Amino acid sequence: SKGAAMVTAVAFRFAAQQAERQRILDTLRLSRQQLLEVKRRMSEQMLRGLSKQTHEQSSLKMLPTYVRSTPDGTEHGDFLALDLGGSSFRVLLVRIESGERNNVDMHHKIYSIPQEFMQGTGDELFSHIVTCIADFLEYMGMRGASLPLGFTFSFPCHQSKLDEGILLQWTKGFKASGCEGQDVVTLLKEATRCKGEFDLSFVAVVNDTVGTMMTCGYEDCQCEVGLIVGTGTNICYMEEMQNVELVEGDDGRMCVNMEWGAFGENGELDDFCTKFDQEVDEFSNYPGKQRYEKMISGMYLGEIVRNVLIEFTAKGLLFRGKDPERLRTRGIFETKFLSQIESDRLAMRQIRSILQHLGLTGSTCDDSVLVKEVCAVVSRRAAQLCGAGLAAVVEKIRQSRNLNQLSVTVGVDGTLYKRHPHFSSIMQETLQDLAPQCQVTFHKSEDGSGKGAALITAVACRMDRCGQ
Ligand code: BGC
Ligand code: MG
Repeated sequence: SKGAAMVTAVAFRFAAQQAERQRILDTLRLSRQQLLEVKRRMSEQMLRGLSKQTHEQSSLKMLPTYVRSTPDGTEHGDFLALDLGGSSFRVLLVRIESGERNNVDMHHKIYSIPQEFMQGTGDELFSHIVTCIADFLEYMGMRGASLPLGFTFSFPCHQSKLDEGILLQWTKGFKASGCEGQDVVTLLKEATRCKGEFDLSFVAVVNDTVGTMMTCGYEDCQCEVGLIVGTGTNICYMEEMQNVELVEGDDGRMCVNMEWGAFGENGELDDFCTKFDQEVDEFSNYPGKQRYEKMISGMYLGEIVRNVLIEFTAKGLLFRGKDPERLRTRGIFETKFLSQIESDRLAMRQIRSILQHLGLTGSTCDDSVLVKEVCAVVSRRAAQLCGAGLAAVVEKIRQSRNLNQLSVTVGVDGTLYKRHPHFSSIMQETLQDLAPQCQVTFHKSEDGSGKGAALITAVACRMDRCGQ
């Protein structure tokens, strides 16, 4: 009959649409084989980055940090810390009391960095930073004080000592001119001199991964890896000095800042990239750069989701094919929305209200289900990629030490890792599967980057680097 034919036609169209959706989502799904391949390529680039001969060609910079010794509990004093490059900019006063561990007292203030400073000139940016430090000292009643400073500067820096950091390249939202190729300590000191309100006696440059590892290492001596999954992503770990070919000496270990966000810049991820990743890359501040970071970190996941949703809508598979204007706005899908949408406690009705809040009105219940699925596929891939990279790192530590089994702690920080409902468990699952000879414990770090920078500065001062 005519009615039955119509029902069949509708069912057929429904099935075809469903298949089309899955076909698109499949491009964002990775097999175990592919993840193993990611791990293998990561290991390969790590070796190339460490070796003097191949360093220049590697996508992984494997930067020496000049952090060798961990806190021993005898360090003490007052330190300033700056934390630049994450989701907020902070100035901190950290008071470390000797004797007992855990005896760290902190005060901080959060400042905003307006877009025009992030993307203006370096002079403006650093002069703004100095204004914030002066304001903070005033606020703490310490005007004119001259304290050693730990500068958590969460960007790739070339270091030849602890109190120097030559910015190799901005990442994330930063683009201030005249800074790349410059020593950020010099930039900071020059800006301080111009203001003339206080002095900086000693400045240690610290990557946030390193600060996180150190903070966690203060409490857990098995902590030899620091991982950040936030606005950006990166990792550091303790490597045997004899493998750190860029630094003289064979004794002991040194912390290496891998800058793994740049993985993929030599095409290592090309066969896993989708057209959505290409779009995100193309419209980013630095096309072609930080390819791994662009598939993993909070600054980009929402953008991938948004691009998938645009495609679905264009194909009539979402929002009844009507393209809501808002969907064309870059950056509307912040990580926090991703985390909220994927929360299992949320009813579909609540997802709809989040979509509405984003200006994506007129969504149906089916739309909400689909949006949630897109978010889940994108964040799962991110967590798996991160787990595969981490597997390469812990395996490297195991092999460097000639161990059959390795037991290690990873200090972790970052908004995506901490707030996303499934990221950490998927990442750990992948890691366990791909590095079965390593027992890895995760330690969420509280305020790692600020406290860690102060601890590193304190260790340097203890070793009489700044005459305290
Ligand atoms: C930077 C790293 C940093 C990471 C996490 C990346 O974009 O290049 O230096 O550790 O973000 O903040
Ligand atoms: Mg941070």
